Amino acid sequence: MKTFDCICGNTLFFENSQCLSCGQDVGWCPACGSIRTLRHERENVYRCANTDCGAKLAKCHNYVVENVCNRCVRLNDAAPDPSALCDCCVYNDTIPDLSIAGNREKWGRLEAAKRRLFYTLDLLGLPHGTAASGFDPPLAFDFKADSIPSNEFWRAMGKEERVYTGHAGGKITINIREADPAERESIRVEFDEAHRTLIGHFRHEIGHYYWDLLVKGKREVDSIRVFGDHENPSYAEALDRHYREGAPTGWQQNFISAYATMHPWEDFAETFAAYLELTSVLYTANNVGLGPVPDVRTAGFPEMVDAKRRLSVAMNEMNRTMGLLDFYPKILMTPVVEKMRFVHELVRSNSVASGQVA
Ligand SMILES: [Zn+2]
Ligand SMILES: [Zn+2]
Ligand SMILES: [Zn+2]
Ligand SMILES: [Zn+2]
Repeated sequence: MKTFDCICGNTLFFENSQCLSCGQDVGWCPACGSIRTLRHERENVYRCANTDCGAKLAKCHNYVVENVCNRCVRLNDAAPDPSALCDCCVYNDTIPDLSIAGNREKWGRLEAAKRRLFYTLDLLGLPHGTAASGFDPPLAFDFKADSIPSNEFWRAMGKEERVYTGHAGGKITINIREADPAERESIRVEFDEAHRTLIGHFRHEIGHYYWDLLVKGKREVDSIRVFGDHENPSYAEALDRHYREGAPTGWQQNFISAYATMHPWEDFAETFAAYLELTSVLYTANNVGLGPVPDVRTAGFPEMVDAKRRLSVAMNEMNRTMGLLDFYPKILMTPVVEKMRFVHELVRSNSVASGQVA
């Protein structure tokens, strides 16, 4: 990520919806691909204050009404449509039940992580689209809570439904309990994970989406060579074995995480997530003055891995200084680097110029 500038000179961050110095509204301008000061013209009509842009904008419905977004939509000469959703919110199929206390806050955290995901996808030029735009397979999100029958009458009417975070056919489902920091930390400890974050969930699940979009029926032979045979054993058999026996000893030599040992699809998704993490970290390092590090849009893969190694020593020590978890706990063994190289080449060969990110 990078930081942005308000017209008053104050620094703006990706999540801001207001400048904390001059008080003006700010938001994502889709025309210039950055967070900008919004000049108010009339009810929900704004101008991007970037003099090179000046796009006519309206705030996304989830910005102006729901307060969980900070993006704008472009306005042509038509009157603003108060229900118009931005290029991130338009992917939502299901949002949490906002009549339940705390769900709006959880939803807001999920949307903030999702916007960061889209920023990286657009930075790398990875294709994606909705069903309404005719994209195949369409991408969509469900943010849902477990519904557990209780003594409350209205809940007891429904049947118990557990929500599993995962991906199927372009639909990414996230259980919103992951957006509760205390719950998420307790799951992290239970599963002995180095990190457990919302952005990490999005990076993993989108990996499954890109397997369907870019590998399935196209690069499956290459994928089998790198990750193993995804048809034998079946996913169901692999899942059963993983929960019965756990990860094989010494998995660290060949896999990015214990979960990646479960099945080649999980290995691909974990590796894809690690690649998005690597590109995001290097891009941010460059933009906040921790560089020079190579440009993730053009650099060769070995240069990117070298830069990551240098940076992680420094960042881990910084985090230890503050008593935090290691910033970059993953050690990239050679077989893991080779899997990431496969993802790198897949991303580069499918990159489309998006113009979404400045
Ligand atoms: Zn300002
Ligand atoms: Zn603009
Ligand atoms: Zn939005
Ligand atoms: Zn998965």
